[in-house]
Amino acid sequence: MSDTSFASLALSPALLSTLDSLGYHDMTPVQAQSLPPMLVGRDVMAQAKTGSGKTAAFGLALLSQLRVEAFSVQGLVLCPTRELADQVAEELRRLARGMPNVKVLTLCGGAPFGPQLASLEHGAHIVVGTPGRVDEHLRKGSLTLGSLAVLVLDEADRMLDMGFQVTIDDIIADTPTDRQTLLFSATFPDEREGLAAMTRGVLRDPVSVKVAETH
Ligand code: ADP
Ligand code: MG
Repeated sequence: MSDTSFASLALSPALLSTLDSLGYHDMTPVQAQSLPPMLVGRDVMAQAKTGSGKTAAFGLALLSQLRVEAFSVQGLVLCPTRELADQVAEELRRLARGMPNVKVLTLCGGAPFGPQLASLEHGAHIVVGTPGRVDEHLRKGSLTLGSLAVLVLDEADRMLDMGFQVTIDDIIADTPTDRQTLLFSATFPDEREGLAAMTRGVLRDPVSVKVAETH
């Protein structure tokens, strides 16, 4: 049997102690399969059903390679809806609570522009947002992604269903080509023609993780 404790991973003492205080003792299957390749910098596309801990999977990968002293946007998480973006940002902030001064900013449509512009001026390490609003900030020049290290496409299948493909392509064109790209979904690309198209040219030699339903 393989070790599914978080302590088996190369995570910082701060992250390990936060996980402990959150009561996250063992990795969920999608975490156990996706974290090792993510932590060595590989692109990953992972499929697991809702509620399986996908947020902490990419969240730990993101936080573990953050350079907190460099106050630039190093992580971008795209989500299909504002509600999901808020939930992801909340989980990232929980996971980052042992890492002082990590700034997680949400940029979603339906929220007023002004406060977002002000927050962007103050800077952030990680942006979590919906594609439309993130793209708007890129076009305005209020957000730049030249220092982006990790791009996460969360609920990629839903973003595709909602017609975000073109907007996401537009955002990706503004990111460095040497970024790490992580795609999380409830369905898998080989089951979905559109998702395969979405990943083509976006993920580089990705590791595929697929967690089977157990019933
Ligand atoms: P998904 O994105 O796969 O739908 P979430 O990331 O929202 O799932 O996680 C579902 C729930 O599981 C959350 O309440 C989260 O706090 C909890 N969780 C995540 N990882 C662990 C873990 N390793 N141990 C215990 N609970 C966890
Ligand atoms: Mg999720």
